[in-house]
Amino acid sequence: MRIQLLSSAVDGVFEKQYATSYLIDETVAVDAGSLGFHGEPEDQAKVKNLFITHSHADHIATLPIFVENAYEAKPDCVTVWGNAAVLKCIREDIFNDRFWPDFERLSTPEAPFVKLKELKAERPVEVDGLRITPILVNHQVRNFGFSIESADASVVIVSDTGPTERVWEVVNEIENLKAVFLEAAFPNHMHDLADVSLHLTPAMFAEEVKKIRRDTRLIVVHLKPRYRREIERELAALGLPSLEIGRPNEEYTFR
Ligand SMILES: [Zn+2]
Ligand SMILES: [Zn+2]
Repeated sequence: MRIQLLSSAVDGVFEKQYATSYLIDETVAVDAGSLGFHGEPEDQAKVKNLFITHSHADHIATLPIFVENAYEAKPDCVTVWGNAAVLKCIREDIFNDRFWPDFERLSTPEAPFVKLKELKAERPVEVDGLRITPILVNHQVRNFGFSIESADASVVIVSDTGPTERVWEVVNEIENLKAVFLEAAFPNHMHDLADVSLHLTPAMFAEEVKKIRRDTRLIVVHLKPRYRREIERELAALGLPSLEIGRPNEEYTFR
C-alpha cells in the first residue's frame, strides 16, 4: 500500500500542511483539502473513490475543483463517501447551485459527475483491493478515522480528534498494523484552544498513543503551519522512537 500526504502549498514551503488530503495507491483518496490542486487533471481522474473524514474546510475545500477535474463524461465517475453530516454539507453547502453547480442533479446515467454514498461507523467498504472501515473519533463535527487494510498491510488515519477511545480499541485488534497517522494540531501552550476545538497538543498526543498496544510507526500530521517548529520541538522532546513527522509530497510504502 502506498500513501502520499498531498502537499497543499504552492510556493515551495511544501512542509506546511494547510489542508489535508491523502492519496492511496493512486485511485483512492482520503479528504479533499488539497486534492483538487494535485498534479494533472488526468491524475485526479484516476481517483474513483474519495473518503471524507468530516466537513471542515481544510478537509473538503477543493472538493468541487476535484470533481470538475475528474469528470470524464463517461458512465464511470468518482464516488464520494462520507457520514450523513458530511453528505448533508456537500449537498446543502457545496453542490447547491450557489457555491458550485449541483453536480448530483446535473449527473446523467451516461455521464455522471459524482455519486455520494453514506458511510456508517464500523461498517467496512471494499474498493480497489482495500477494505476501509470508518471509526468515530472525537471532534466538533461528526468525524471518522479510517482503518485501511490491503492484502499485506494495515494503516489507520486519525486526523482531527480530541482525546478518544474507540479508535484505539479497534487499532489494538488490527493485524498487520504498519502505521498510525495521528494529528498534533497545536503546541502545548495552546492546550485550552486544543481542548475546546477538539484537537491534540504534543502532550495530549503522548497520552493518546499510550492507548496503542502495538508496535507501529506513528506519523504525526495536521501540525498547524504557524506553530510547526514549536510543535516539532515538543514532539521530539517526547522521546518516542516510533514517532516521525509526516512529510507532505512523500510517498510512504507499507508492506
Ligand atoms: Zn476539523
Ligand atoms: Zn482539520
